[in-house]
Amino acid sequence: MDDSSDRTEGGKQREGSWFLRRRGAIRRSRASEQETSAPAGPGSMAGEPRLSPSAVASSQPQPTAIWTDSHCHLQDDTDPAATLALARAARVGRVVCAGTDAASSRRAVFLANELSGNRAPAPSVGPEQAASAQGTEVWATVGLHPHDAKDGLGSVTEFLDELSAGEGLGQSRVVAIGECGLDYHYEHSPRTVQRDVFAAQVELANLHNLALVIHTREAWDDTFSILEDQGVPDRTIFHCFTGGEPEAKQCLRLGALLSFSGIVTFANAGELREVVTHCPLDRLLVETDSPFLTPVPYRGRRNSPSNVVVVGDTIGKLKGIAPEVAAAVSWLNAEKAFGLGV
Ligand SMILES: [Zn+2]
Repeated sequence: MDDSSDRTEGGKQREGSWFLRRRGAIRRSRASEQETSAPAGPGSMAGEPRLSPSAVASSQPQPTAIWTDSHCHLQDDTDPAATLALARAARVGRVVCAGTDAASSRRAVFLANELSGNRAPAPSVGPEQAASAQGTEVWATVGLHPHDAKDGLGSVTEFLDELSAGEGLGQSRVVAIGECGLDYHYEHSPRTVQRDVFAAQVELANLHNLALVIHTREAWDDTFSILEDQGVPDRTIFHCFTGGEPEAKQCLRLGALLSFSGIVTFANAGELREVVTHCPLDRLLVETDSPFLTPVPYRGRRNSPSNVVVVGDTIGKLKGIAPEVAAAVSWLNAEKAFGLGV
């Protein structure tokens, strides 16, 4: 989330064998993935599995691009249905609404239930069918932003308990815990409180087997150590990634995905564009973080999920792949990251 203060841009070491077994399992699964991966090419992040553009192109016929906005705040819009209709017209087939506290998480879940069209088809059908027949999938995340950590996690866990008691989280449209993390740039909450609240949300993601959506700013060391202390959830996403190469490499080493926002279109984002060019294709997501972070050439206007096309095009160019392929890649990665279609 990015307001005027520009938010772009979070206890308990589990004793005994469960944690070690879990960490072991994570390590083993990573190792087996790497065995099958194509050898790392020059300039790519060392040893990471890569999905070659040709592999994507051959696996999915690409008549047109259907995009996923993997992080937005549609629930903050005055007319979410109208914003979603704009997105649909721009061929955005899926959006993930990120909660930032209990109230916005409830609104995100409400919208996901209210506005979600039927499950949008994979990007293999013609544009007409996709855009008109299906609508746009809407999913939600539940969590507490580091800025609001001082308010405590109580009302967020209460909401999660409610959802678990009802149809069960697995049946709900909640796909992740977050956005949560650490922000030492603005420090709207004390660092110690931020760390505790982040650690507790990492635990919630592991407990509920949900993805984890991380907001981290100028707090990389603490972010990594809390993740390692709590056990890195299998599906971890660094939203609105703004780190450099060293941070990107560490995120990838932990098995996480990097989600890139409109910042990649900013004139002064050369280092970030470098990170995009080196990011393995199967670890890349595209987002708007709307209504914040409007991409060039629309700076100064309110952002919306329809602009994920602009961000995606920029990323496609940086990766040397066609927009359709960039769209299909981020679609498939979002499917995996958020556990959709399982
Ligand atoms: Zn956000």
